[in-house]
Amino acid sequence: MVASLYVHIPFCRHICGYCDFTKMFYEPKWALSYVQELKKEIAAFHLPAHSLKTVYLGGGTPTCLPKELLGDLLDFLSKYWDPADYECTVEGNPETIDETLPLFLKQHGVNRFSLGIESSSLRLLSLMGRHHTFADAKTAISRLKAAGLTNISADFIYALPNETMDELQGDIAAFLSLDLPHLSAYSLTVSPGTGFAHQGYREADEQIQGAMYEMILRAFRQAGYTRYEVSNFARNHAYSRHNLTYWHDEEYAAAGLGASGYLGRARYTNTKNLTSYLKGEWRGESETLSRQSEHEDYFLTNLRLADGFSLHQYQARFQEDFLTVYRVPLQQLEAEGLLLHEGDRIHATDRGILLLDRILLALF
Ligand code: SF4
Repeated sequence: MVASLYVHIPFCRHICGYCDFTKMFYEPKWALSYVQELKKEIAAFHLPAHSLKTVYLGGGTPTCLPKELLGDLLDFLSKYWDPADYECTVEGNPETIDETLPLFLKQHGVNRFSLGIESSSLRLLSLMGRHHTFADAKTAISRLKAAGLTNISADFIYALPNETMDELQGDIAAFLSLDLPHLSAYSLTVSPGTGFAHQGYREADEQIQGAMYEMILRAFRQAGYTRYEVSNFARNHAYSRHNLTYWHDEEYAAAGLGASGYLGRARYTNTKNLTSYLKGEWRGESETLSRQSEHEDYFLTNLRLADGFSLHQYQARFQEDFLTVYRVPLQQLEAEGLLLHEGDRIHATDRGILLLDRILLALF
């Protein structure tokens, strides 16, 4: 049974240079029709009432919707989540969090917030085209906490153009000072079609990315965070339940412009054309997975997790014994110090997590 729903809100007040998400400038005239169409798409999943364990409103910038629209959407979604046990996350940028928004969100059932801070450095924020300062981020966090929305995650991006180790050190210290239960750290990706690509920016070379990642990992661990996924860190098991659905390679529904879902062994992506979407032509591409692709996706996602996957669950899903089928590559990867078999679990080592491509190549 599907227990997770992703909802995409494509509107933003500004466009960041590195952004590869499906997004567009916020236009009040489109926002109303968009939310109405979203509700139709979600209703068409025919999800049983109270069946969802996680709902994630991502974007874009969901918090740039007017409160009445956001409230209307959350009230609609609340029919589907299990009131006794659910996680509802909303993403937003610091400058969109006014004094009243956090309590409003809490009153509409939101119990987790993901804040796009990205850096504490004015130079790097301005390079990325962000419209907030680190002081704005701290104000937003105080407002969220004051409203009782304490389950907060913050994102930051490293290996930005010409970023120095000193700048990274400053970011690490600044993010740790926020004292949040969850942090995500992503190395910059320069995708075709983005502002960064047009400006000729390149990704830092692998050595620099690796050194920066090591610095983050060391500092976060020292501060009491567990790396539970390649780019995600949590204290006291404050994991993102929604994202664990993806990393466990479980089914999830996804609605909205450009959203990608995984239902009934098929992966689909919605249209990125707003006109088509508003006409009810939601779906773009869809692909039913072959058994081989299912295996690949399973390893690709689960091995990103520090605790990997359970042999039991693997057997239940694929009706085969991992240790028998993958005996040879497992022995080789264990000998190289990349993969570990411990009890019921197979997981990548610290070194293996940095060399996931090599592990996957050996398993595929
Ligand atoms: S990074 Fe976030 S705020 Fe910036 S353009 Fe992309 S979706 Fe919008």
